[in-house]
Amino acid sequence: MAGRSALVTGAGSGIGRAVAVKLAAEGYAVTVNDLSAARAEAVADEIRAAGGTAAAVAGDVSAEADAAAIHAAAVGAHGTVSLLVNNAGIAHQAPFENLEVADFDRMFAVHVRGTFLMTRAVLPAMLAEGAGVVINIASQLGQIGGVELVHYSGAKAAIIGMTKALAREVSARGVRVNAVAPGPINTPLVMELSEDWRAAKRAGLPLGRFGEPEEVAETVAFLASPAASLFVGQTLGPNSGDVML
Ligand code: NAP
Repeated sequence: MAGRSALVTGAGSGIGRAVAVKLAAEGYAVTVNDLSAARAEAVADEIRAAGGTAAAVAGDVSAEADAAAIHAAAVGAHGTVSLLVNNAGIAHQAPFENLEVADFDRMFAVHVRGTFLMTRAVLPAMLAEGAGVVINIASQLGQIGGVELVHYSGAKAAIIGMTKALAREVSARGVRVNAVAPGPINTPLVMELSEDWRAAKRAGLPLGRFGEPEEVAETVAFLASPAASLFVGQTLGPNSGDVML
């Protein structure tokens, strides 16, 4: 377990929190990032209370200086980042005719620019080491689209494309890059979508229920592990059957 250090963005809540807790339980020293310092600290405290190793750092993954500072804080706390989980995300629902430019831009900034900036921050050391894992949290809506979610679906599709492209570029140099595309998961983010939206989605799920953050964390932990050594540029779907590939 020695030398394994994970940086999880947007880990003060929901899926990111569950991923941070799971990775810590598996022996990773975890850096918990969130926009909110208080939420990041709370999750780091939770991990430490359970006997794990954790540091907290506030910062906006879509801001270039913050991304560098988040990475520097992780290296300062744990010496290295051997696993990056690009999880930070936001939800916003709007019919396409009413979709404001600012909301479109923010969606792409947090998800696409944030994934780019954080990956760019960690990658040089991983390549120098000849080892590392990057896991990007996409969404099943990046695969099939979501009604009134053109900006969200587009940003998540971009993340899937970035995952594949980077995997082609760096895999032979020891860095494995994959994505996880969850279906609807019970977190504060999904509650930002309308009740009608959630009811229609739930009715169409083969499993008949939304997932829990801990069920997504299992997929992330698998992709991070040596058991996933042949998984390169893949998008795994813990999605209640919403997408079947
Ligand atoms: P969540 O509970 O709202 O957690 C997301 C966390 O990311 C929040 O604490 C949020 O802070 C933080 N965050 C937002 N923008 C950030 C930024 N620029 N820099 C750093 N942190 C930021 O949502 P979740 O459902 O766990 O979502 C986690 C990821 O899973 C997202 O990428 C989401 O798109 C994806 N996903 C979720 C679902 C689902 O149904 N829940 C399905 C598929 C994919 P604030 O609360 O202050 O914004």
